[in-house]
Amino acid sequence: MKSLKDIYIFIGPPGSGKGSLSHLCKKSFGWAHLSTGNLCRQHIARMTDIGLQIDQAIKSGKLISDDLMIDMVNQWIKEVALSSQGIILDGFPRTVSQAKALDDLFSQKEFVDASVTIVSMNINDEQVINRLKTRLVCQNEACQAVYSFLPSQVSKGLTCQECKDVLIQRVDDNSDVVYERLKTYHHYADDLLVYYRNSVCKVIDLNVELPLDYVFKTFVESTGKST
Ligand code: ATP
Ligand code: MG
Repeated sequence: MKSLKDIYIFIGPPGSGKGSLSHLCKKSFGWAHLSTGNLCRQHIARMTDIGLQIDQAIKSGKLISDDLMIDMVNQWIKEVALSSQGIILDGFPRTVSQAKALDDLFSQKEFVDASVTIVSMNINDEQVINRLKTRLVCQNEACQAVYSFLPSQVSKGLTCQECKDVLIQRVDDNSDVVYERLKTYHHYADDLLVYYRNSVCKVIDLNVELPLDYVFKTFVESTGKST
């Protein structure tokens, strides 16, 4: 069994490209990737007990409870992450109390060799709003691939290149909910980043307004890895 060495925590507003950057890292380095948003949407699509509890919060752009989220992440880390060399947490932690719960987990002996790097992804709100207007995702909950289009390219009946299912707009990508998600993000992110900047974790600041291949290259250089 491989032992977990590198833990990357992606912190950035909606539409900042956390999922897209994770996808490239997964392809190049084989790291395991947990998107807590994707996990929530899978629960909703499968109508699990958790899915029924969180459906309304997700639709309105609010966070779901820390306790529920922490349990879901702990379970994933124990089941999946410990057998990977590297992992990416995309969308978790989002609050200082989630970060403290993660610190508790990482203080256990299984994580003694692991180092935690925070990746702070910076983009202005106007760009986020524009990006999300033309973002579509695969409706297959096991896939959820993300596509960015130009406004002139968006039409009905577009399909996923990975699994051929239909592309749709996420329920929380409509403009009212996007404003709510941005508000929620800014409400928690400053404190979360201060918490990590005062910790032993390395923090990388990444300008994600640039094209994705450039963002990926900059990220890889800052980690000291080679592709
Ligand atoms: P993006 O649009 O780039 O995917 P996002 O942060 O807006 O970014 P997701 O990460 O997909 O969207 O999360 C969608 C929703 O899932 C959030 O609005 C929230 O309701 C819930 N969620 C995800 N992660 C957490 C978390 N760590 N704590 C609480 N709620 C969460
Ligand atoms: Mg995402």
